[in-house]
Amino acid sequence: MSGDVKTATPSNQEHGQRTTPDGIKLPIYMDNHATTPMDPRVLEEMLPYFMEKFGNAASRNHPFGWAAEEAVELSRERIAKLIGATAKEIIFTSGATESDNLAIKGVAEMYREKGNHIITQVTEHKAILDTCKRLEKYGFEVTYLPVAKDGRIDLDDLRRAITAKTILITIMYANNEIGVVQPIQEIGKIAKEKGILFHSDGVQAAGKIPVDVQRDNLDMISLTAHKLYGPKGCGALYVRRRNPRVQLSAQIDGGGHERGMRSGTLNVPGIVGFGKAAELCQNEMATESVRLSGLRDRLKDAVFAKLDEVYINGSMEHRLPHNINISFAFVEGESLLMGINDVAVSSGSACTSATLEPSYVLKALGVGEDLAHTSIRFGLGRFNTPEEVDYVTNRVIEVVQRLRELSPLYEMAKEGIDLSKMNWGASAGH
Ligand SMILES: *Cc1c(COP(=O)(O)O)cnc(C)c1O
Repeated sequence: MSGDVKTATPSNQEHGQRTTPDGIKLPIYMDNHATTPMDPRVLEEMLPYFMEKFGNAASRNHPFGWAAEEAVELSRERIAKLIGATAKEIIFTSGATESDNLAIKGVAEMYREKGNHIITQVTEHKAILDTCKRLEKYGFEVTYLPVAKDGRIDLDDLRRAITAKTILITIMYANNEIGVVQPIQEIGKIAKEKGILFHSDGVQAAGKIPVDVQRDNLDMISLTAHKLYGPKGCGALYVRRRNPRVQLSAQIDGGGHERGMRSGTLNVPGIVGFGKAAELCQNEMATESVRLSGLRDRLKDAVFAKLDEVYINGSMEHRLPHNINISFAFVEGESLLMGINDVAVSSGSACTSATLEPSYVLKALGVGEDLAHTSIRFGLGRFNTPEEVDYVTNRVIEVVQRLRELSPLYEMAKEGIDLSKMNWGASAGH
């Protein structure tokens, strides 16, 4: 069985697979912030736990249970090691959405006597923002810090927002749209000084850049396997055990698994895969991040060499190595995406998402509606080859050039007409 696994690579056999004359398989997946394909080595490690080693990790009386428990504990260690924690501090969940909910609601409920104020920021994932919104309904007060044009919060804003009632600061490690890394170490220092618990949604950072809960003074961090080449439906929350010992009110009651913080029979195969994925990331992060940032920069440099009126969204300095988010002025967002429909990427535009609004993340950065609609998030990953990156780069350049040839606005801008001074009438915009 495992012999076959070695040859399995992330496949794109459905959804109109084609191969270019140069042997590149289409469509190309470059949306690794949404999810990552599983690493074949992860699948191989998981397989026995679906069949031969099917035991319940909570079964204490027989070898089936012991084998499962042993595997779970190995995963706990591997995941802990990736973030500088100890195994006992890892609580398994169904994913980062649940981890975010457990961290925020668990603190809110447990520390209610101490205060009712929570600080977060505007470009968080919905798992954070919607959880905070719900708590507001129950009488909690939430401060949503703004971000600067580079996508980062201002530490002075944070200091000013802290009150005697503040019980939690939750700021994401790195953003899922623009890849911007927040000043986590500095935030951790402030939280520690003030004796306030500090949680971070670390989904996009863990396994991609060094995360260390000691160095960063993190009390909690949310993780998920499927953003680091592991399986879907398996996440974790790191919960600090000393200095301070963090206590959380369980949000799912039951058999008292996971130190009573998260009941429910453990997803053993998922956890085994998560552990293996974490170990692989730990071992390969240094070389992988250099390789991917090299490819990312090659894409960016080529785009900027061939096209004008292109804009990077978010800080270039404080950014994940495998992310770039670019807006292309004077093209129509939908046409751009159609033009590169053999490449799987995400856009800050309405056309690809469930809502009809431009991305709230880009909006928070002050990106105008038009540029938000023409933004593309390139999320490179472990299985992208240089040939694929070059293909995507050329394709994007080609399509933007073609669309601009048809654009009267682009013509006018090139002729030096100041478009911002023109009167567009009531129907201007997108
Ligand atoms: C994907 C993602 C989540 C949600 O994780 P799931 O495991 O899919 O629930 C939360 N936060 C961020 C930043 C993410 O990118």
